[in-house]
Amino acid sequence: MGCTGCGGSVSNKGSVTKRKNSSTNSKRTPWRTKSVNPIVGVAQRLKDKLVAKQPLRTKRMDICKSCEFYDEILVRCKDCGCFLKPKVLLKESVCPLEEPKW
Ligand code: SF4
Repeated sequence: MGCTGCGGSVSNKGSVTKRKNSSTNSKRTPWRTKSVNPIVGVAQRLKDKLVAKQPLRTKRMDICKSCEFYDEILVRCKDCGCFLKPKVLLKESVCPLEEPKW
């Protein structure tokens, strides 16, 4: 009969058989493995929820660069005053015009 903790076993003669691989150990301590680290998972979901993907950010910035309210020295929107690098990064942000360009 094997140990439920480490997977090893002891025979009637007293010899010890060690577990075959260390995967049993990783099942006991899931927070130590990268794939199931809860903090990494939470951070990834938060990033997916808040941050726009690169193609969308590039598309937004291209629209802003061709806009009459674009301040190329400070990389700001002259209409709302926002700095455009963080503005295009946030998924929920919008162009402030009455007819938004993005
Ligand atoms: S956010 Fe809108 S108004 Fe401001 S620069 Fe970009 S496109 Fe123009």
